[in-house]
Amino acid sequence: MIDSKKDAFEYFEITRMKRRKFLKNSTLTAAGLMSTPILVSCDKNKNNSSQAIIKPILPVVVCTWNFKNATAKAWEILSQKGTALDAVEQGVMVEEADATNETVGLGGRPDRDGQVTLDACIMDKDSNCGSVVYLKNIVHPVSVARKVMENTPHIILAGKGAEQFAYEYGFKKTNLLTKSTKKQYEAWKKTSQYETVINIENHDTIGMLAIDHNGDIAGACTTSGMAYKIAGRIGDSPLIGAGLYVDNEVGGATATGVGEEVIRTVGSFLIVELMRQGKSPQEACEEGVRRIMNKNKDRKDFQIGFLAINKQGKTGGYCVHQGFTYSQYTDAGQTENIV
Ligand code: ASP
Repeated sequence: MIDSKKDAFEYFEITRMKRRKFLKNSTLTAAGLMSTPILVSCDKNKNNSSQAIIKPILPVVVCTWNFKNATAKAWEILSQKGTALDAVEQGVMVEEADATNETVGLGGRPDRDGQVTLDACIMDKDSNCGSVVYLKNIVHPVSVARKVMENTPHIILAGKGAEQFAYEYGFKKTNLLTKSTKKQYEAWKKTSQYETVINIENHDTIGMLAIDHNGDIAGACTTSGMAYKIAGRIGDSPLIGAGLYVDNEVGGATATGVGEEVIRTVGSFLIVELMRQGKSPQEACEEGVRRIMNKNKDRKDFQIGFLAINKQGKTGGYCVHQGFTYSQYTDAGQTENIV
């Protein structure tokens, strides 16, 4: 049972610690398996001050964690002069459709009642945005979010209404609980502790940011949220300003980690505003993490990862604890960045 907020944070920390341990052991190996890998430290981005006059190197796509198939898909679109909006939608769809990714879309871990509920949002160069929360039975919440953005006067649709809306646009009803996640859930139910034996993975929510040939920026974010969450819980990922924010004059930002902390600081909006004030993407992400930690002075028991891109196509990422990675694709190839 989840007894308190503290238990929820403890659960998150345990999963993060396991993932960090895994990352420590496997990052270099994984990077070695990539087809065109360049392993870089995000520290290299530290001199990317947006005040410097830098010729934009476009296009660029980045996403949280090392979802290299997702950035490869987005790159395919960008390199053919497609829009950043199409690139981020189709990029994150790769992870939504991947049943082996148990933190996003099909095969995402369920809530404590055994229901897989998905959250996603998308934002374009004109500050149009769409979002779906607590969406069941639909593999591609990001595409439903895009339909909300483009075909309704609204921004957020939730639950049954969002599902009904999706069917009206031809999305198919799909059981999102896989054999694997069902088995894990059944095991979790035996104790119903808000801590579970999970597969150790080096990935989580996917937040993606892209800048296209025209210099236009878009972003998308999609997740199944915290595993075994209280039914009805919504995280930061589908909330514009928290899990994702884009301002085409400045840049974009996205987040992964304990959504509650990102919501409290309106994290992605904050990072874009910090870039507007002259900080580089790297500096802005570092300040975003500092703001969160200033509000949690006595705690270091949770993870947040921020990722940002600016109008020059420069990127940066930062996190509370070492081990956050992000995937990037540019003309120079695909890189895994370890923060
Ligand atoms: N931010 C997501 C949420 O709170 C989960 C995550 O990225 O781990 O739902």
